Amino acid sequence: MIATHHADLLCEAVSRLGSEKAFEVLARARQLEAEGRTIVHLEVGEPDFDTPAHIKRAGIEAIEHNFSHYTPSAGIVELRDVIADYAGTFRGIAPFHRDEVVVSPGAKPVIWNILSALLDPGDEMVYADPAYPAYASCASYLQAKAVPVPLLESRNFQLDLDVLAKTLSSKTKVLVINSPHNPTGGVLSIEDLRVIADLAIKHDILVISDEIYSRNLYDGEFVSIATLPGMRERTIIVDGFSKAYAMTGWRLGYAIMPARLAKTVTLFANNTYSCVATFVQRAGIAALTGDDTPIQEMNEIFHKRRDRIVAGLNAIPNVSCTTPAGAFYAFPNFSKITTDDMHLANFLLEDGGVAALGGSCFGKAGVGYLRFSYAASFENIDLALERVRTALTTYRK
Ligand code: PLP
Repeated sequence: MIATHHADLLCEAVSRLGSEKAFEVLARARQLEAEGRTIVHLEVGEPDFDTPAHIKRAGIEAIEHNFSHYTPSAGIVELRDVIADYAGTFRGIAPFHRDEVVVSPGAKPVIWNILSALLDPGDEMVYADPAYPAYASCASYLQAKAVPVPLLESRNFQLDLDVLAKTLSSKTKVLVINSPHNPTGGVLSIEDLRVIADLAIKHDILVISDEIYSRNLYDGEFVSIATLPGMRERTIIVDGFSKAYAMTGWRLGYAIMPARLAKTVTLFANNTYSCVATFVQRAGIAALTGDDTPIQEMNEIFHKRRDRIVAGLNAIPNVSCTTPAGAFYAFPNFSKITTDDMHLANFLLEDGGVAALGGSCFGKAGVGYLRFSYAASFENIDLALERVRTALTTYRK
């Protein structure tokens, strides 16, 4: 037998990879369930609804009609045309062109490929902290310099604009924003977007605008930074089907960017996944062109759940929670109880039976917070709130 020393086989670069903690917490929660415990799952960021029937039907019909062969790496023309049209119309600007669209198996891989196409070692990427972990993980893998700018709870989790202004410079290549935001649910106001756009133009910076939660908005209208003067040509919009259409497991996302960059991002697709499953792409056409009512219905329910969980969290002694305007996350502040959010999250899982994420999984600015995904039934939200309240009475750091 040949002994393999796994660690010796790995290249040095893998030590720079981050990870999404939600998947690890989910695995532990499932293990506890297998041991007979009941766990309320508020850790994973996915709608608990089923994919709407007309989208499922389109996928099934596509398989039956043998849409089961390779496609161009950027995606089928029909889907790219539908995306180009939808993405412009939804944002209130002229449609995009199919050559600006790259389809991918979820938004996550296209984020990786965009950053890989843009960042050389030492290049600077500025991003909001806390953040979806994929941006910094990829930048660090590429040996780029990832520079966090804090989001402020006092501003409903909008950026600290003074710090942003001091941080951005002609050395910055890419700024990543995400609105509505994971993990805080914060939404960037049009006034803040204008400030960000002015800075991006002044320093000639590309903006990656992760708009995957653009349909999950409960207060106000969605505004994309791409719609502001001078921004369309310097914005890369990331979007997808996972959150809006309850299609996380289908793996379908896309990004829109200047055609020249799209070509290179497509080259990464060509070198890795080749193309997205053909019948999944057909289902995507049905999602964007079909009945929108199920999406609106899901959002009405998310809205009510948001109100329920925020009120419930604020009713727990020493916990405070701002009202998130979008996505499906509450990001309450537990710092009066402890700043060791990872310890607290672990305690709530192991002793309280509630799976949530420590805010510091998302960066330094998340210290002292927990992320609760409220993509769960009212019953489970109420049960989680009750369990958290009870568990905290015995919590000792
Ligand atoms: N961007 C953000 C901010 C997210 O929260 C997620 C998923 O959690 C993604 C992108 C990627 O989603 P997917 O790869 O399922 O399209």
